[in-house]
Amino acid sequence: EIMQGPSGRGEKIYVSVRLRPLNEKEIVRNDVSEWECINDSTIIYRSNLSVSERSMYPTAYTFDRVFRSDCSTRQVYEEAAKEVALVVVSGINASIFAYGQTSSGKTYTMSGITEYTVADIYDYIEKHKEREFLLKFSAMEIYNESVRDLLSADSTNLRLLDDPERGTIVEKLAEETIRDWSHFKELLSVCEAQRQIGETSLNEASSRSHQILRLTIESSAREFLGNDKSSSLTATVNFVDLAGSERASQSLAAGARLKEGCHINRSLLTLGTVIRKLSKGRNGHIPFRDSKLTRILQSSLGGNAKTAIICTMSPARSHVEQTRNTLLFASCAK
Ligand code: ADP
Ligand code: MG
Repeated sequence: EIMQGPSGRGEKIYVSVRLRPLNEKEIVRNDVSEWECINDSTIIYRSNLSVSERSMYPTAYTFDRVFRSDCSTRQVYEEAAKEVALVVVSGINASIFAYGQTSSGKTYTMSGITEYTVADIYDYIEKHKEREFLLKFSAMEIYNESVRDLLSADSTNLRLLDDPERGTIVEKLAEETIRDWSHFKELLSVCEAQRQIGETSLNEASSRSHQILRLTIESSAREFLGNDKSSSLTATVNFVDLAGSERASQSLAAGARLKEGCHINRSLLTLGTVIRKLSKGRNGHIPFRDSKLTRILQSSLGGNAKTAIICTMSPARSHVEQTRNTLLFASCAK
């Protein structure tokens, strides 16, 4: 069941893993695929492990869903994201994450999922003429614990404010009302351009930064009957393309000397802690406030909010260490 977790707090996180195909570079250097999905929920490490390795690493991992390298993004969306993402139309917040090392397929997966979601929301709106909908879009990037607006070129280092009613808000973040599908595509290309500008000046920024695309849906009954409060709904769905997960482990290994590594480390580690605690349904303290990423996402992570995590992995032998780290993260989230 996606929506009802064992915790009884409706917080079960839907965890899936997507294996990408070997790419050309990997094929050229005679890299080989080491992983195999043996059914819809189990992925195994195929290589012959030595006895000592066998005691150190599991060879089979089970998740809500695993996707073979020949699965389409459409299929990943339908089975691992759609149900969570579309709760927004009924006024419930949601977050969809892509987690994995650089080049494992996070952006490839998340951009498809974002578009399929918006298309389905338009479909839903079309079928629910009894309600009036407003779709709003905003986008940001967190780099070095600094928040940048991806819709507005000169909005950098945005402050986070605590609003008693709305929770944490990003001050001065641009929000556009989406007019139609082509306007939505335009907004996506603005974000993409902004992101690339950052990339040239910040050097491989996409592997170090977290990108959040955010869709807010407001709706109300067309025939407003009295002052029925339930007739008006607002909710947000976040599409989160995380920094490369290798940044967490590398910066740890380097003793977290670099400021940048330290922050990446903090955001990813805090997210890991938050997700682990939520998935266990613990009522204790959840350290949302320890990083910008988790502060911004707080209202879309705890409570009634729905969460899905898609862990992307490279099949290559040369990436096996990072892939194991990814699977470990995924195991802790489920
Ligand atoms: P990341 O965002 O994790 O760094 P990308 O999404 O940019 O990785 O993917 C790296 C490259 O691999 C891109 O060229 C992308 O098109 C390709 N790729 C990723 N996943 C798949 C997939 N499932 N099928 C085919 N190509 C993929
Ligand atoms: Mg990427």
